[in-house]
Amino acid sequence: MGARLARLTVNPDAIAANWRWFARAAGKADCAGVVKADAYGLGADAAAAALLSAGCRSFFVATAVEGARVRDVVGAAPNIYVLNGAAPDEVRLLQQEELMPVLNSLAQIALWGDAGPAALHIDTGMNRLGISPDDVVEAGLLLPKPKLVMSHLACASTRGHEMNARQRAAFVTASHAFPGAKLSLAASAGAQLGEDYLFDMIRPGIGLYGWAGMDDGNPPLAAATTITAPVLQMRDVPAGESFGYGATKRADKPMRAATVALGYADGFLRSFTGSGYGVSGGARLPLLGRVSMDLVILDATAAPDLKAGDEVEFLGEGAPIEEVARAAGTLPYEILTTFAGTVRKNQA
Ligand SMILES: *Cc1c(COP(=O)(O)O)cnc(C)c1O
Repeated sequence: MGARLARLTVNPDAIAANWRWFARAAGKADCAGVVKADAYGLGADAAAAALLSAGCRSFFVATAVEGARVRDVVGAAPNIYVLNGAAPDEVRLLQQEELMPVLNSLAQIALWGDAGPAALHIDTGMNRLGISPDDVVEAGLLLPKPKLVMSHLACASTRGHEMNARQRAAFVTASHAFPGAKLSLAASAGAQLGEDYLFDMIRPGIGLYGWAGMDDGNPPLAAATTITAPVLQMRDVPAGESFGYGATKRADKPMRAATVALGYADGFLRSFTGSGYGVSGGARLPLLGRVSMDLVILDATAAPDLKAGDEVEFLGEGAPIEEVARAAGTLPYEILTTFAGTVRKNQA
């Protein structure tokens, strides 16, 4: 393919630097790397290689197929945990690739049997995945020596949310059913809630890709990816003319506009309409009118030298992920998987 014009570049050094930031935050605890969902759209191969070179030795994916792919990149030694557990038709692949399922129920513990080492997820209040607290004692009898006992916080992005302390306490109580087991509770945001939340391992995902995950007060992390698209045409638009579908936006004065090769076919969400922007030479160029399939129109007033063929940045150092996500009314998670993920697939 490679027919579409928007380009994504991933910066492995930024991913490595962000991992080191979390490894420092982890103190004595281990720092894993979450590379599920194709490393949040950036490409699991490149991300896993960058993390491995930074020193990461524990990886988390969602499915056995994702795990097999990471195994190819990182080699035999690192631990690869599969968060969605073990479905009956995944058991063979899990064994073959020496992946560790994170078992989520008594039924999964029974299914897995003694097929290999496994981890255990305890539900402490999120009601998404995990063994419910009522079943923890029985789980401890069935699988007394899990490689890792973990849980996941629902509200870690909000410092001081009462759920955090409540889930932590439930986790500590549940862990008594597995004496000596290694424990893990925190993802990117949880790792910033203080030492009490670090246990034996933290599991950052989004932080590795450039956003620390807190509602406010995020530390600056390195931009792991840049997305650019080229200007196809410059136009001088007289006052009173309109831009794009629906003629929703009018020029209230003579304007210079740039038509850029980016649209929802590239995962550039229609909800950027009215609030999105591109960046050229340090200047922010607001979107004019609606996003369309392959094109957006930008107000080029602030970039007088912009010309056809120039690249405009839509995600990266000039267009930080947190602000870009806010402009589309979504979170960095969705910007990476949807926008970055689509641009990447389109250029593969
Ligand atoms: C996705 C996920 C993580 C990583 O979360 P981030 O917020 O991206 O750091 C960690 N643990 C579990 C169980 C997850 O599902």
